[in-house]
Amino acid sequence: MTQSNASIGEFISEAKIQARVKELAAMINKDYAGQEVIIVGVLNGSFIFCADLFRHLTIPCQIEFVSLSSYEGTESSGEVSFRMDVKQSLVGKNVILVEDIVDTGLTITFLLKHMKLKNLKSLKLCSLLLKRARLKVEVPVDYLGFDIEDKFVIGYGLDFDGRYRELPYIGVYGE
Ligand code: 5GP
Repeated sequence: MTQSNASIGEFISEAKIQARVKELAAMINKDYAGQEVIIVGVLNGSFIFCADLFRHLTIPCQIEFVSLSSYEGTESSGEVSFRMDVKQSLVGKNVILVEDIVDTGLTITFLLKHMKLKNLKSLKLCSLLLKRARLKVEVPVDYLGFDIEDKFVIGYGLDFDGRYRELPYIGVYGE
């Protein structure tokens, strides 16, 4: 723990994250053997997870990103809007949405609804983290990294007011 990160307790280690990311990629490689997949990462929080997952894919794959606005500070506003959509047509494609964390589920529900209008071949959801106890709507997470308790987490792409994304582990802010 460095001085500037003095109030951050390690929650999920780098080794555990990397092992789980490999397992998730192996599941995707098996499920989509012989098919092409478009990974759609949800910015900004999923950028590191997406990159690590993508490196372990052995099937033909492409990457796109979307950017949504739904969260400020540590409080979920419950309101979701688009900042940026994908740049290519996804008609007839296998799409896997990649999220950093599903909390209330409102953000990803908004995105799943939007994606379903695009006449995809298939749509699945991969999330590194899920706070099951916080869900306000049911969310079908097809590939899940870790089911976690209700704590505000940072690191491995996740921020607190823009900071701490660079940490290689997932930590709990304020512990
Ligand atoms: P939801 O709409 O599911 O409530 O919120 C999803 C978004 O809220 C995530 O993509 C993430 O940006 C943010 N979020 C929810 N919980 C946390 C958390 O514990 N830590 C951080 N850094 N972001 C969170």
